[in-house]
Amino acid sequence: MATEKKSADDSYDLVVIGAGPGGYTAAIRAAQLGMRVACVELDKQLGGTCLRIGCIPSKALLESSELVHQAQHDFAAHGIQAKVSFDLAAMQKRKDGTVDGLTKGIEGLFKKNGITRVLGRGQMLARGEDGTHRVAIAGSDRVLHTTSVLLATGSKVAPLRGVEVDGDRVGTSTEALSWPEVPKHLVVIGAGAIGLELGSVWLRLGAKVTVLEYADRVLPGMDREISKEAKKLFEKQGLEFVLGARVTGAKAAGKGARVEIDGRDPIDADRVLLAVGRVPCTDGLGLDAIELALDDRGRVPIDEHFATSVEGVFAIGDLVQGPMLAHKAEEEGVAAVEYLVNGWCHVDYQAIPNVVYTAPEIASVGRTEEELIAADVPFRAGKFHFLANGRARALGQAKGFVKVLAHRDTDRVLGVHIIGPRAGDLVAEAAVAIAFGASAEDIGRASHAHPTLAEVLKEAALAVHGRAISG
Ligand code: NAD
Repeated sequence: MATEKKSADDSYDLVVIGAGPGGYTAAIRAAQLGMRVACVELDKQLGGTCLRIGCIPSKALLESSELVHQAQHDFAAHGIQAKVSFDLAAMQKRKDGTVDGLTKGIEGLFKKNGITRVLGRGQMLARGEDGTHRVAIAGSDRVLHTTSVLLATGSKVAPLRGVEVDGDRVGTSTEALSWPEVPKHLVVIGAGAIGLELGSVWLRLGAKVTVLEYADRVLPGMDREISKEAKKLFEKQGLEFVLGARVTGAKAAGKGARVEIDGRDPIDADRVLLAVGRVPCTDGLGLDAIELALDDRGRVPIDEHFATSVEGVFAIGDLVQGPMLAHKAEEEGVAAVEYLVNGWCHVDYQAIPNVVYTAPEIASVGRTEEELIAADVPFRAGKFHFLANGRARALGQAKGFVKVLAHRDTDRVLGVHIIGPRAGDLVAEAAVAIAFGASAEDIGRASHAHPTLAEVLKEAALAVHGRAISG
């Protein structure tokens, strides 16, 4: 443990531990609000899992691999003849460049906002005699003094009993973003967002991909109709699914790996991707020193203002309850520091979208049909297919639909579920509608430019009352 080195300069209003989307956004907002802020991050690149080994590099590879797929399969329909080959190393280099540019952007924002960046592992120490919090930088004698601390250390890959991750043949999303060659046969454990996104990348680049999923459907948290459509479309692309498959073990074997499944024959593969979720990351944070206990799922318990049971210590993002999404962490980071300064804050959890960046994309906000039925909420559903949309047809991407769920009596929009082109962008309008308490009729009567994909949302909203125009 660090021994304290006194430095008048190392005193802050707020120390943020973790520079992922939650932490860096909170640090910037706090600085905007006039706080003296330090942000402690153990990696030399700012941006956290999302930027370094998650959302951003996966989106770069999804884009490159989708272009390969389109060139191979879709160009001909446009009258374009192309003989396509690809350079995986160049693709990886472009991905790394994308990440690099963005992490440098955050460094620039830190400088612009006067945020002190501290490289190292932040570790809570017992409070000082003057009542201030103390954050040691592990392995050094530096100790930061601060009035408040924001814990934003995110999450790490959830282990699965029996699965021996060796980082080579059996890997996680981190390794699957950097494989140097396309596996002949990839087995993905888990049909959640990571499994489907990275499974799609390697499928498009030529791998045979088998996805093993414990539940009876892909994307088990999504609206059931969306899950069903997604499975159908992904199967057409060549993804193989084994549903109801409980993986009990996986380990490297020879030049590949072997995956054991409860009650079924084992499967041999070149590589295995473990993607069965993530767990909060509190490693080495020193929470014992401040007597901060975790809940039974390893999360940091907080109140509605992100305050933990220890005065002056707040927590956000993947460390706390709720969906593990970068934009959820960002909202919480901003809200937590605004509460510190202004005494109030609000995050509308019903209006947080969830996007899976496959092709087509899948996006959802609000409640699913199953959730409304279980909660006995009376609702009407309106559905509209991209097939009847001019822009989707012109793009050659007319698969999927939009489904709007609105309260039967008030018409208030309760949930919107989209599978189709640019669903991740289209869902933004639905999130704003839910945040503003809009009705399906509000969306249906708002002018949407023609011809755009957004018209499908308008038509689905009109369909809630049986009055879609084009279908
Ligand atoms: P997930 O929780 O989304 O999906 C994991 C899947 O693994 C589930 O469908 C689960 O039923 C299945 N599973 C669990 N145990 C199993 C077993 N023994 N055998 C077979 N299947 C099993 O987790 P993820 O895809 O790893 O993603 C982790 C987190 O990161 C999630 O919270 C996710 O929302 C987030 N994330 C989001 C995005 C995005 O928004 N686009 C992308 C990547 C990750």
